[in-house]
Amino acid sequence: MKYLSCNIGGVVIGHGHPIAVQSMCDTDTMDTIRSVAQCRDLAAAGCDIIRLTTQGPRQVEALAQIKARLRADGIATPLVADIHFNADAALAAALVAEKVRINPGNFSKDHAVAMAKFAELLEICRDNGTAIRIGLNHGSLGERITSQYGDTPLGMVRAVMEWLQVCVEKEFYNVTVSLKASNTKVMADAYRLLRRTMEDELGMVFPLHLGVTEAGAGDTGRIKSAVGIGTLLSEGIGDTIRVSLTENPVNEVPVAQKLRDLAGSKAPEGTTDFCIDAADREDFLVKASYMIGPALLDGRIDDFNLKATIAGRDLTEEEISSFKDDLMQACRRRFTKPEYIACPGCGRTLYNIQNLLKEVMEATKEFAGVKIAVMGCIVNGPGEMADADFGYVGEGGGKVTLYKGPEPVMRGIPQEQGVEKLVELIRNSI
Ligand code: SF4
Repeated sequence: MKYLSCNIGGVVIGHGHPIAVQSMCDTDTMDTIRSVAQCRDLAAAGCDIIRLTTQGPRQVEALAQIKARLRADGIATPLVADIHFNADAALAAALVAEKVRINPGNFSKDHAVAMAKFAELLEICRDNGTAIRIGLNHGSLGERITSQYGDTPLGMVRAVMEWLQVCVEKEFYNVTVSLKASNTKVMADAYRLLRRTMEDELGMVFPLHLGVTEAGAGDTGRIKSAVGIGTLLSEGIGDTIRVSLTENPVNEVPVAQKLRDLAGSKAPEGTTDFCIDAADREDFLVKASYMIGPALLDGRIDDFNLKATIAGRDLTEEEISSFKDDLMQACRRRFTKPEYIACPGCGRTLYNIQNLLKEVMEATKEFAGVKIAVMGCIVNGPGEMADADFGYVGEGGGKVTLYKGPEPVMRGIPQEQGVEKLVELIRNSI
């Protein structure tokens, strides 16, 4: 088996290299001053790779300025241009960024056109030493794939394999792959299947970028991320990781670092009694979720006992029981609270998503088991909220759209009324 590596501006992942921690700016890329400041903060926190939203040619120019300023300050952290739809932005960004993140299926509805643009991009990347991440998210697969395989781990794998085949044909190997989902089970199954499929069909393994997308914030965001990413890391799968939190992105870095440090370790098979000694609350959430989550997620255990200390203090029964509810839910085993699917926010975010998520969580806490999405933008939000029952999506201009399942049911709602209308919509529908 051939294990490939990917060189992102000198940070090499895959093929036995250390796991790299990454994050993404939530600033408007056009605001180069704030973006440079956030990159600086992320680099200081130990982030190995930083991604920025790059919607079009103006953002590519801004990215070049951000990069120049960081390099002048002696910050060498590689930058990734996050492209969603615009193939020409990808081609231009490949001349500037150390890596370009794309879903080539979004380049064009015409598959042949998307293929041609992708082939063109590979040549530019080859000439410039730029790496590529082929990033497909659950919920963002095109009609061509979903009509054949559904919106399933298999569909995600088949979609990404088409693009990897092109990379192999063109002998372009500086590639990383991601298949993120907010559902931890779908996410873990997709990556496992991809790993097996690469081995069976290509005879080579491309490095994998792991992440639970739209994980939300606070305890549940950390627990969900630790379960999904941790399950795979405990099996030796994963070369770079991003913990997505609807918080300041700097907060993502220590969580990812803890997971990286735990990688490869696992609880002995069949363990149901766990003892966790943690330095602080976040350390507890990450360690306990990492050690217990994988067996729950895969149904190898149904319940567990936990004793834990945080900085020498024993956790109370209520604290353990509340954590247990969150972990059971993150592992898709028992739903006792609403399930929040919230994007981390990025340069496309059209309102203050961190505050809004808190407001929505407070206003909807009675709706146990209901999946509620809070998404920053109308362009990617609706697709990526996947299987949410209800959605609150930023529209721009101080307006929001509310969704029931995949359907927009109330458009143009002034933001000040958004949460109230969402609660009304949920109440009238369940
Ligand atoms: S859904 Fe959220 S994270 Fe994704 S592109 Fe839109 S604002 Fe950015």
